[in-house]
Amino acid sequence: MKLATISDNGKIKAGMIVGEEFVCCDESKNATTAVLAMISSGNISEWQAMLEIAPRKKLSEIKILAPIPYLLRDMICVGKNYYAHAKEFFDSGFDATQKETIPSEPIIFTKAMTSLIGPDDAIDTSIDPTGSVDYEGELGVVISKTARRVAKDDWQDYVFGYVIINDVTSRELQKKHNQWTIGKGLDTFGPMGPYIVTKDEIDDLPSMQIQTLVNDEIRQQAEVRDLIFDIPTLIETLTLTGTLLAGDVIATGTPVGVGIGFSPPKFLKSGDKVTINVTGLGSLTNPVI
Ligand code: MG
Repeated sequence: MKLATISDNGKIKAGMIVGEEFVCCDESKNATTAVLAMISSGNISEWQAMLEIAPRKKLSEIKILAPIPYLLRDMICVGKNYYAHAKEFFDSGFDATQKETIPSEPIIFTKAMTSLIGPDDAIDTSIDPTGSVDYEGELGVVISKTARRVAKDDWQDYVFGYVIINDVTSRELQKKHNQWTIGKGLDTFGPMGPYIVTKDEIDDLPSMQIQTLVNDEIRQQAEVRDLIFDIPTLIETLTLTGTLLAGDVIATGTPVGVGIGFSPPKFLKSGDKVTINVTGLGSLTNPVI
């Protein structure tokens, strides 16, 4: 199933994407939080049962929003989690931590939930006074239920599904403030979408491809198997001492090919367009203003 939140002439609705249509499962005043509530309830069969009877809309007639427009809390993100990207970031001079090229333990930070935008919403570079806006195409993992002390082998039980994330970053702010909260948390710097795909629809997670294009030029291309710390390890690490909640999103890290990997750096500028394609998860495109 592909879960989505949409705007139909300004009215927020929640439901599923099937082919070129949106199936409306909730158009109540609570529709903005309906996807999150459905994940928390664990009762996906309720929406499944509506597939044949619920009203439908053509995708061309609606606007798709971030599938969870208001996360429960800030997104959980992983830094330097692909070998070649860890090296390019270290070598770029923007890595204020400068501790080690390849991390020996997962680097975890959070990205402000208020940075979230949906497909086709604009990434606003005018908010970054340093003009160093960079893209990071990533696989996002959506957590299904409260998770504490999860053993690696049990990780699948705690995954609801997957979604595309663009961890847009101001490189100068990331460097200047040492910690990454400000550099990653700018308004409009958190594109997510177009929908959450439930885990049963993913046949071969390690073979999924992440591809990022800027103005139709391929900048990033990698497979999930290239992660330094895989998803089971991330879930085990995050729940060893803390708690993950239903609807939490983990952005698992970005592959090589970000703008600061080029010399000189290729920062995003007004008029650009960023597209991230992930196998089975569709395509997330955002204009840059
Ligand atoms: Mg990232």
